[in-house]
Amino acid sequence: MEGKITIDMRREHATLRFLIAFMLMVSFASAQGITYVVLWFDTEDYIEPASDDAALRIATDLSQMGVHATFKVVGEKARTLKRRGRTDVIQALSMHCIGYHSNWHSIQPVPAVYEQHLGFLEGADEFERRERGGFQDVRRIFGKSPVCYGQPGSSWAPQANPALRRMGIHVYLDAGTQVGLRDQPMWYGGLLYIYNMGPYQLRAELDHKTPIAQTFHEFDSAVHHFADTGGGVISTYYHPTEFVTTEFWDAVNFANGATAERDRWVRPKRRSPEETERCYQILHSYVEHAKHTPGVRFVTAEDLLRLYSNPAKPHFSSATLARHFQQGINFISSDSGGLSAADILLQLLGLPPEYVDGPTTRGVTTYTDSSVPNPIFERAVTDAKSFITANHRLPSEVFLGSRTLSLADFAATVADHVLSPGEVRVTHGKLDFEQFVSSDPMGSFKWPIHPAGFSAPELLELARLQAWTLKPARLRTAMGKQ
Ligand SMILES: [Zn+2]
Repeated sequence: MEGKITIDMRREHATLRFLIAFMLMVSFASAQGITYVVLWFDTEDYIEPASDDAALRIATDLSQMGVHATFKVVGEKARTLKRRGRTDVIQALSMHCIGYHSNWHSIQPVPAVYEQHLGFLEGADEFERRERGGFQDVRRIFGKSPVCYGQPGSSWAPQANPALRRMGIHVYLDAGTQVGLRDQPMWYGGLLYIYNMGPYQLRAELDHKTPIAQTFHEFDSAVHHFADTGGGVISTYYHPTEFVTTEFWDAVNFANGATAERDRWVRPKRRSPEETERCYQILHSYVEHAKHTPGVRFVTAEDLLRLYSNPAKPHFSSATLARHFQQGINFISSDSGGLSAADILLQLLGLPPEYVDGPTTRGVTTYTDSSVPNPIFERAVTDAKSFITANHRLPSEVFLGSRTLSLADFAATVADHVLSPGEVRVTHGKLDFEQFVSSDPMGSFKWPIHPAGFSAPELLELARLQAWTLKPARLRTAMGKQ
């Protein structure tokens, strides 16, 4: 009997200890923001077969550590794995989240090159025409639909956004500088963008460029920052091929816009087996460090979409929104979430909330009078609402008879009219959200694979037009906080 009592008490103690640990965890979670680490691997090298083994080793190691990563796979890489009979690699990767990383990656024309001179709508069709086949190959070969996309190198184009949505991809996961919002996730072009993360783009360098202790220190500072500010995301990426080579597979074949036929492809220089093992250990240490830091969770692109998709719509009065537009046309955010400039305009026009794209061109104002007769303005508003409802896109300009108001001036005029009904005064709008788009058409597209001196100001102009859709993404957990 005595023995039984002791065992029961021990069990109770164990239960109690578990309960205390659990309560501590819960109180930590509710009191402090969580740091979500998205660990992703651009799986793209279809030239060096050792990169297949690297992908296998990384995926297997992470599975053993209980960590789910995101593998963004190139169409030709998926087809190559299939051709080489690497079902072991395909199976190991499919235990993780699968993303898409373009059909051919570095074979010309690359996305920014083929999109550069296309408009928004034809560019979206062209992206879909060129990229859907690779997306379908990745889905067929891995047995699951890619949930995110990221461009090869810096070959970004805003026309990809509507095409990706049509393919069923709702997350843009990459590193780049063309557009960005406060170094954290944002909604842009109807997609959750994990992009341009500034100090929250972190990785333990494989080649000692930064000592690992310094990376751990930066990681810990980010975790402390997010603990105090309601949570956030650290984005960490590698390429499996980096673990087995000392030069990039594409740079040795396709530099500066070069074309090379398959029979002329050369393989990149290899690391020694000892060096490769050392690289795996660096990744292992980084993941272990993150795993053992309180308040840190590993997430996939799919998890992030769930964490940032908020069913609750933030509420702002139309007067608040109209006054906001008078200060400058931009998104608005509060603790309950945010509205993009497009969301705001829809509410001011009395339209039901829905995602709509930005305008396709920069409209101009040819209307020079200082006020608009009410019937003409009412017809313009009706016409704008009809355009938005029919096209799920904002118009570039709105007609007042035979003359026009640019979208910016129309939005500012609508806002002014909400605040002072009666005479319609023409008001000029200032597009403040354009500050979140790069003004460096060469620097933001810098990539050894782009043709020498490549510059894409047209893509940045389209990016600015689409910034009507920009707003900060808000963690669901922050919403649940009392
Ligand atoms: Zn890549």
